[in-house]
Amino acid sequence: MDDAMLKQLQEVCEAYPIEPVWLVVPSTRDGRLIMKTLAENGISLLNVKVVTMDQLADAAVGGDTASKRMDRNGIHRRLYQALKASKQELNYFTNITISPNFIDQMMTTLLDIKRAGLNASKMSEETFVHPDKARDLAKLERVYETIKHSLEAFDEADILKKAVSSVERTFLPSAVVFFPHDAYHKLERELLLTVKDYIPVYTAAPESSADAPMPNQPLSFLEKEVPSLERGLKQKQANLSMHEAFSLDEEVRAMLETMRQNVDAFDEVVIHYTSTKDYLPLLHESVTSMGLPATFAEGIPLHHTKHGRAFFALVQWLQNDMKLPDLRDYMQEGLFSWPDVAVQEAEVRLLELENRGVQVLNEYALQQLYETAEYSGRATDLALFTRFKQVLDCVPVKYRYDELDLGTAANHLKRMLQVIQPDFAGEEAVVHEALQTHLEAVEICLDENYAWMDILQLIDHECRKLYAGGSLPKPGRLHITPYRNGLYINRSHHWVLGMDQTRYPGRQSEDPLLLDGERASLNSELDLSTYHTSRALWQLASIFLNGNNRSFYVSYASMDLGKNRPQVKAHLYQALEDALAKNITIHKPYRPLDVKFDQVDWWHDKAHLGAGHRFAREAASFYTMHHQLIEAATQRFSSKWTPWDGVLKDPAALVDPKRESVPFSASKLETLASCPFAYYLSYVLKLDPEEDRSEEYRWLTPLERGSVLHELYEDIVRLGLINMEENLSQVKLDELFIEKMSSLEERIPPASLTARDIERRELYASSQLFLNVEKQKPAHQAISTEYRFGFVDHPTAIPTENGESIQIRGKIDRVNQYEDQSIEIVDYKTGRAQKFKDSSYFEGGRRLQPALYAAAYEQNEKQKVRQTGYDYPTTKGLGASVRFSYGEKEQVKLSEVLERLSRTAATGRFYLTDDPEDCKFCRFQDVCRRTHYDQELIEQKQDVDQPEIYRGFQEVRKYD
Ligand code: SF4
Repeated sequence: MDDAMLKQLQEVCEAYPIEPVWLVVPSTRDGRLIMKTLAENGISLLNVKVVTMDQLADAAVGGDTASKRMDRNGIHRRLYQALKASKQELNYFTNITISPNFIDQMMTTLLDIKRAGLNASKMSEETFVHPDKARDLAKLERVYETIKHSLEAFDEADILKKAVSSVERTFLPSAVVFFPHDAYHKLERELLLTVKDYIPVYTAAPESSADAPMPNQPLSFLEKEVPSLERGLKQKQANLSMHEAFSLDEEVRAMLETMRQNVDAFDEVVIHYTSTKDYLPLLHESVTSMGLPATFAEGIPLHHTKHGRAFFALVQWLQNDMKLPDLRDYMQEGLFSWPDVAVQEAEVRLLELENRGVQVLNEYALQQLYETAEYSGRATDLALFTRFKQVLDCVPVKYRYDELDLGTAANHLKRMLQVIQPDFAGEEAVVHEALQTHLEAVEICLDENYAWMDILQLIDHECRKLYAGGSLPKPGRLHITPYRNGLYINRSHHWVLGMDQTRYPGRQSEDPLLLDGERASLNSELDLSTYHTSRALWQLASIFLNGNNRSFYVSYASMDLGKNRPQVKAHLYQALEDALAKNITIHKPYRPLDVKFDQVDWWHDKAHLGAGHRFAREAASFYTMHHQLIEAATQRFSSKWTPWDGVLKDPAALVDPKRESVPFSASKLETLASCPFAYYLSYVLKLDPEEDRSEEYRWLTPLERGSVLHELYEDIVRLGLINMEENLSQVKLDELFIEKMSSLEERIPPASLTARDIERRELYASSQLFLNVEKQKPAHQAISTEYRFGFVDHPTAIPTENGESIQIRGKIDRVNQYEDQSIEIVDYKTGRAQKFKDSSYFEGGRRLQPALYAAAYEQNEKQKVRQTGYDYPTTKGLGASVRFSYGEKEQVKLSEVLERLSRTAATGRFYLTDDPEDCKFCRFQDVCRRTHYDQELIEQKQDVDQPEIYRGFQEVRKYD
């Protein structure tokens, strides 16, 4: 506050020595800062009280509305539920997802309309881009008003309107002093003007800059002559120092370094930032790591703290059906942590469960963990079981779409947070307190019922808006604040960070529910997105001009490293630079910066601003990974055959299939034949491309679906449904299906009812199809299902051409015996039938399974196999069947293929496939990048130094 403003306030207070005077302030926090400044300047506050505009409105109507102000979260939740149920009644907004963010935006727009004195249902349709939009807004307003009415609650606009029409002098003070803020609406202005009819209204106007006129102000203080920013700074005798940094990181470091050199007391400093998202975490981290004492005006967003992240991870985990891989990630990050549980051991136990097909934490998983703990007798295993049980005991529903009341859900979440993070201290305790307080406020909502997944989404939305540890400036501490809240902070050193055009004034996007054009046509009082710029200018210019003898340090970063693009300085930064150039302001400039040269930033600069990816080799040496990457790219684009192309120096011990002690599966051998490089990535380097765990609302993974279908087929055969009379087999199938589905839902909770129903329909149709197809087949007997070979009890070695052998293992889905005693081997495929290639037997080595399974069965059972092949008993495969005869000729060919394959692999040369068709469904495409190479280069490379080995591999392709 400058001297002129203090003088005005002193005069008002002296004019009313004992009568009540109210200061109408933008926020309670500003009010406390103003009172503090007045007291420090010896102004009597005997009868002075601060109120916000809302409190003034409550008082003006006699104070009976304050307790009925609507709870925004409460209305928000009900609107969310109501609109989700009635979305089909909307026409213009029909394609919009009803999300908590949409409801927030909608409530803000409706309030904007009301505060401008309008009524959505009476707005002219011609004003809108489409008449349906006007109708939809009117419908949304009706739903909103109905909900509010049912709760007998009022919003701000209702109370302001009521106050304007029925001000009661009795409840007003002797005078009010109005502290302007950046955005007042029509109803607020009308209230002040109405109050002015009864009592004096003064304006405490900070001097504003002519460069930044404040928009939409209710009173006439702007008519006063205001100085330009340049003149203002001169009059105020301000010190100004400016700095351009390369990155945000450097900007913050430079600021703290300069502060250390130039400031004697921390509590003389306030740091203003323009972007909460970019600067708050950085500032928080920097002051914490440097051990600087600081207060944060808004506190820290909960998701920037460990305890907060643990809570959001918990909510997300519950939304995703408590998947074990996510649980492992959260434990590794320390978000779910227990003193008696070792993370590495827990990870092993969870991986064991996943390998057994358990994908979520449920009763079945607990039972498995308990058995492991009982068997091993280890305390850590028992602790893991106990902790997970505690977590599961707190889950209040069986399925994500089960309904329950909000209060119970909040109570369970509260307990669960305690369970996953039992130990916390210091700042984390403040975060815990903030979360607990919010959840306790929700706990009273026992009459609101929602689906569990909706509750999780709503609570996540509400808690993401929470900040912890917000504070007023305190003695001995730096104060850190968004510039919007910094106007009334009376300190002498002001740092302003983030003065680039993107962050200041930044751009405000139009409200999609009510566009600027529509707002302008409806009413001149409605806020436009363009006002954002002039407000931002007014707010910051006011900080520069409000106070005498202040020092300002202003900075921006010229590069946004996150987006890899340069940034332009803000207009106000330029204006200040001009003022500085005219040598207007500097009394005691700060000493020049002594910031150390930062090699990482320098190399970043080279990498991003220089010649794209063409790093200087020295630059790359800074980053080991980059260096290797360049080396790999150079080698792979050469015509030489290099280790980066899949060649091993000492291969035999590692990769000769005949020497492998672990038996091969058919698919492993088929991969080797399809593309040796894919085999190398998968089985030698053991790369496992990361699964996309993005939120996808489906029930079963392809693997789970395949395994359920196999179980169903096996049961149909085992229970003899194929040979039963039509009606009976149908009844039995239905019984079997219902039983299977209910145990499946226990094991793997469906993502949603819709996902479950779609999947169930498909599974049922495939089971039905399987039964129908089987009934039509010639009479046969399934003498074995799920026939296992190659495991400890049935070691199986298939001979190769030169008399050696390869160990193999597998599971034959079904072995049939026909009336003529001939044997048939069948494998079920759950995908589409490969019509075009099924005429080929070995398909150039890519199809080995039918012959391998036949050979394995013959070897173990000493029975001749007549034919072997696949069935496709699903809705995708349409019940197709493919059979290949099997005899001595095929046996010989199989041994030849196996010989050629193992010989090539033993050389340690893993060629890229010669047919790009093999790449279509390859999961290693991103790693391999075959599509980036010319076919000519690939052929040249593969053939160049030892052509005979490559030709050996190509011989496999001759087996059709
Ligand atoms: S993308 Fe093609 S060449 Fe590369 S590993 Fe996969 S199948 Fe082989």
